[in-house]
Amino acid sequence: MQADPIQRAIDEDLVRVLYAQDLLAFFTHWFSIAVLTSIYWAEMSALRFFNAWFVFYAAANCLGLALWLWHRRWPAALPPRVWISLHALRGALLYSAPGLSIWFAFHSTQAELPLLHTVMLVTLAAGVFMSNGFDTLNFSIAIPLLLMPAIALHFSAHSFERIVVGIVLLFFFSAINLYAISYRKLFRSVVQARVDQQRLAESLALQKHVAVEAGLAKTRFFAAASHDLRQPLHAIGLLAASLGDTAAPSAERARAAENVVRNVEALNQLFNQVLDLSRIESGVTQVMRVDFRLAELFERVGSLYRPQAAAKGLALRIAPTSIVLHDDPVLLERVLGNLVANAVRYTDEGSIWVGLRRAGRADGGFIEVRDSGMGIPPGEQERIFEEFYRGASAERDARPGHGLGLPTVRRLIGLLGGELQMRSAPGRGSTFRFPVRAGDPGRVVTGLAEFTPAGVSAATAAGRRVLCIDDEPAIREGVASLLGRWGCVVKSVADEDAACGAIAEGFAPDAVLCDYQLGNGRAGNVALERVRGALARHGAERAVLLLITGDMASPELKALAEEGVPILHKPVNPARLLRTLQTAWRDADTKGGAASKAAAPAPGIAPPETFPQALPPPLTVSSRPRASR
Ligand code: ADP
Repeated sequence: MQADPIQRAIDEDLVRVLYAQDLLAFFTHWFSIAVLTSIYWAEMSALRFFNAWFVFYAAANCLGLALWLWHRRWPAALPPRVWISLHALRGALLYSAPGLSIWFAFHSTQAELPLLHTVMLVTLAAGVFMSNGFDTLNFSIAIPLLLMPAIALHFSAHSFERIVVGIVLLFFFSAINLYAISYRKLFRSVVQARVDQQRLAESLALQKHVAVEAGLAKTRFFAAASHDLRQPLHAIGLLAASLGDTAAPSAERARAAENVVRNVEALNQLFNQVLDLSRIESGVTQVMRVDFRLAELFERVGSLYRPQAAAKGLALRIAPTSIVLHDDPVLLERVLGNLVANAVRYTDEGSIWVGLRRAGRADGGFIEVRDSGMGIPPGEQERIFEEFYRGASAERDARPGHGLGLPTVRRLIGLLGGELQMRSAPGRGSTFRFPVRAGDPGRVVTGLAEFTPAGVSAATAAGRRVLCIDDEPAIREGVASLLGRWGCVVKSVADEDAACGAIAEGFAPDAVLCDYQLGNGRAGNVALERVRGALARHGAERAVLLLITGDMASPELKALAEEGVPILHKPVNPARLLRTLQTAWRDADTKGGAASKAAAPAPGIAPPETFPQALPPPLTVSSRPRASR
């Protein structure tokens, strides 16, 4: 077996070149037999065994033809290296006849016969150079057999002319070998270039195929997404109309309001799927590891998906566990939520099992989600991790989804330092698992509810002063009203100049919420820097700073995230905002005033961006879309 693809390509080309010349060589050798016969004709009866050589040469020539026919008929019958070796063997038989038969010339009575025979050998050697020079084995067998006996006999003839001919022959022998070496180098580089070109063409074709597939997947995604966006929007429009109808009974209006909230949640879920992935890719998703009980996380995911599973007649079994993990519960909940949602979606009968397997690991184990569903064909097991890819079968396409769950899961697990493993067989279900680290039961600082929107209480926000910087009046109004409901004292301004002015006038904020791209064209980081300066000058450096952005992948944002600045992505939901503020304030309070910069995470507590992403996301405060964001 040849591991080197270039060598393999060279061998294949060599076989083609060597055998391509053989038919011509067949006639050339018959011509040479005819020439030998004619120059030796007068000596035929005097030279013993000459006839035998003649027969041997003719037989070798016929064998060569047979080999050529065999290769022509069944080129794939043998590996290239074997074809090359057989060709070399044929060369050994074929060229030994004219090469060694020069001995007869030196033993004939005609003085000119050695010279005539030598001329014929040189002609044959030139032919060998042309047809076999590409291959070391064939060339280095044929040329010595053709020329060496002649060189030896000329040198041993003890005549000045013969020795001169011997020297010339030796020079020719050396020159032809040197030329053949450079000939082979050239041949190798030509083959290398051809192989490179072929690879390039293949990789371009593959890339084109991938791009076409990605384009198709995106088209499918937009078709599905636009349907999923249109439906709730349509419903919200109708419900808003009935909300505006003052004559409608209050119970009906309350129901309509409830439905509006549900539809907004559905919209938000789709947005979040897309945004989650971009957030992870842009490197602004921050990991917060805490010690928590896995059973609590299992229960949250279970309570979310048990009704869906029950509606399909599936049993969602969650194995009891007492382990404490040291991991990011919010990111893990998104991972687990996606996997369980898929298990429910792609299983029509049987059950789903969620549990922890220690797998012999003392420092943790694997969270496993197993289903008895439709499974994934081997050919698709890598592709399902591509964005927007939903599998080839129409049956899968008919189920809700956008092909973003698994890519998100894989990246999240990567972010947590693990690797997602999968085992699946069509019709026999699938198992997904990923590693988790055990934590310290003595450090379980908080119940998971604290990390979830439902567990957030606005009490700690009451009385806090918040400076809100956003060039969009509607957002300023929305945020002011929301913060006002939490009991905050809010000052809303359109840009950082106004913010610095407000601080200078004596508004000492506990928090500054800054839009990343302000209408004055300055980026949020620049605005933040100026506001920080103003806070420091007026003794309000304890204020926590928060950036709110619709931007996903800017290097400045990434740098700010690495610095520990809490970054919220639009649409920001109220619980997320409150949770982020609370954590930042808690941090700032713990540090006792050291937090004039952005709130950095306390030990064991992550930056707040990680808080709000629990499933399902609640009602959002969203900005109106603007092209620049
Ligand atoms: P979505 O489920 O929204 O289509 P995902 O990225 O979560 O997107 O999954 C991609 C594809 O992988 C799905 O469309 C489905 O074909 C396949 N898949 C994922 N999970 C399972 C599962 N548990 N059983 C069978 N197929 C699955």
